[in-house]
Amino acid sequence: MTARFSFAIHATDGRARTGTITMKRGEIRTPAFMPVGTAATVKAMKPGDVRASGADIILGNTYHLMLRPGAERVNRLGGLHGFMGWDRPILTDSGGYQVMSLAELTKRSEDGVAFKSHLDGTRHLLSPERSIEIQRLLGSNIVMAFDELVPTTSTREVQASAMERSMRWARRSRDAFNAGGQHAEDNAIFGIQQGALDEGFRKSSADALIDIGFDGYAIGGLAVGEGQEAMFGCLDFAPGQLPVEKPRYLMGVGKPTDIVGAVERGVDMFDCVLPTRSGRTGQAFTRNGPINIRNARFAEDQGPLDPACGCPVCATWSRAYLHHLVRAGEILGAMLMTEHNIWFYQQMMADLRAAITEGRLTAFADDFRARYAARETSGQ
Ligand SMILES: [Zn+2]
Repeated sequence: MTARFSFAIHATDGRARTGTITMKRGEIRTPAFMPVGTAATVKAMKPGDVRASGADIILGNTYHLMLRPGAERVNRLGGLHGFMGWDRPILTDSGGYQVMSLAELTKRSEDGVAFKSHLDGTRHLLSPERSIEIQRLLGSNIVMAFDELVPTTSTREVQASAMERSMRWARRSRDAFNAGGQHAEDNAIFGIQQGALDEGFRKSSADALIDIGFDGYAIGGLAVGEGQEAMFGCLDFAPGQLPVEKPRYLMGVGKPTDIVGAVERGVDMFDCVLPTRSGRTGQAFTRNGPINIRNARFAEDQGPLDPACGCPVCATWSRAYLHHLVRAGEILGAMLMTEHNIWFYQQMMADLRAAITEGRLTAFADDFRARYAARETSGQ
């Protein structure tokens, strides 16, 4: 019988680890990158193509799905897996980040966040209990606790009180998860560490979450504009405050060099809209840094986006063709650029896992940065 949720670490290299999360819907190889399927779709990609890229798990957004098409409707239609045609694990966020960044007229209280939909102005309340209920209705396999976010530039008092409220909400999220029976099914729940960039706040948050007890632990409140150096500064202590035997998930990260640096610091899971969003605007990730395919120098370039890439796009189509499609606003341009970018991220994760297994992560990471950053800093 497959365990509901287990995490086995196969090898470590410095602070980095590689392992496998096992759930009834499938295994998740870590470090893992989760493509973002905001509105029950990884934009411009069919689920089979997402899977072919090497993705073991995708992410869905509670805030977007509760507003459209609605969690109850998705539930009546068989849950997110059946609705969108993805049968492997799905992680859903709690809606906290989006409600505080996208919704209108938000009003925060100890109960939760009251807001008006950014789509049609209808009024809603998102609380720990409602967030967990929505994630249950969606059929989420990894449910996230509902938390409160404040900018890293907020005063220490504001940061401390948001972190403390998030820990009270984490308890309510855990209780609602247990009461809803999700624990007995093939689902897991992760708590989210908050505390901005402050080591003491982060420790208090980690201790509160460990006291409640979760299947995994997310590091929240980073990648919100503080910059890579400040984020890495926080990641020099935050992962070590969390249980070594549980997965650690850095939410909303990030650029390829962010992910490589975070893996070196002991993070196991990531999600980010960057590869999909960039694909739709003409940016391709390559081992020699990002390129903008709209650039005139690619108009007659018959090479692939990335000669080292194993994706179906690079095997078939030239930079010149993609340049044409993107410049002409063709839908296929967005589809192919997205597919390549998702493959790039998944190949990067596979390379990181192999480097950790073989004990050569530092050499791999230094080489990756040297090749990647040369182009990144030249603005191409
Ligand atoms: Zn490719």
